[in-house]
Amino acid sequence: MNIILLGPPGAGKGTQAGLLEDKFDMVQLSTGDMLRAAVKAQTEVGKKAKAVMDAGELVSDAIVSGIIGDRLDELGPDKGVIFDGYPRTAAQAHALDEILSERGRKLDHVIEIAVDEDALVDRITGRYTCANCNAGYHDRHKKPSTEGVCDVCGSTEFKRRPDDNEDTVRTRMTEYRGKTAPILPIYEERNIVSRVDGMGGIEEVSDALNAILS
Ligand code: ADP
Ligand code: ADP
Ligand code: ZN
Repeated sequence: MNIILLGPPGAGKGTQAGLLEDKFDMVQLSTGDMLRAAVKAQTEVGKKAKAVMDAGELVSDAIVSGIIGDRLDELGPDKGVIFDGYPRTAAQAHALDEILSERGRKLDHVIEIAVDEDALVDRITGRYTCANCNAGYHDRHKKPSTEGVCDVCGSTEFKRRPDDNEDTVRTRMTEYRGKTAPILPIYEERNIVSRVDGMGGIEEVSDALNAILS
């Protein structure tokens, strides 16, 4: 099974992709996570991407499609994949079609997670992750069960993304509305789009996704 989780920044794509990985034995491919790793490692891709990401704009289609193709090759043919944050433009959607067909894969579902803009700002400005294992948390909606200690790995170090501030979030939302939401019709024509209400709690959204995929 190969699926795309589509939704604005902060909709809960990464959170839900993590839950789906465990439940369906699939692999999450997040271009945002891959780009942040490249920035940290100061690779050529990372050096090109950093300023663009800090501004909340989109990294070039060629770069992100290149890293997605490379990751699929590393994975081999049998693992199901959850695309999280990719594709984000029509050019990326068309590149993904080629990337998948070259590797004998097909898209089974495109699931849009819908969330109001005010809630997105709240979600993004409260977001943080474990500095060791990258587990996701939120100041109000998803606290670790022991304050200051990661539930998954026990680390006490956490981090926040430099682009998770209100100004940059507005740019990211504009990019989503202008470039990413318009790719939905490509998939609607193929009858593979479903929508879930992302305004509910994490469990509720997860139940809605499981119902679509089971
Ligand atoms: P995305 O990958 O779409 O940008 P995340 O999964 O990182 O979004 O979620 C953004 C923030 O909102 C995180 O801090 C996460 O813990 C929190 N969050 C995710 N889903 C929900 C939800 N259904 N209700 C409340 N908070 C949520
Ligand atoms: P969020 O889910 O909160 O929007 P991501 O982690 O998916 O954030 O992406 C963070 C940043 O990385 C984006 O604002 C953009 O600069 C860059 N990025 C990630 N994925 C893509 C992509 N598919 N195309 C272009 N830029 C991307
Ligand atoms: Zn951790």
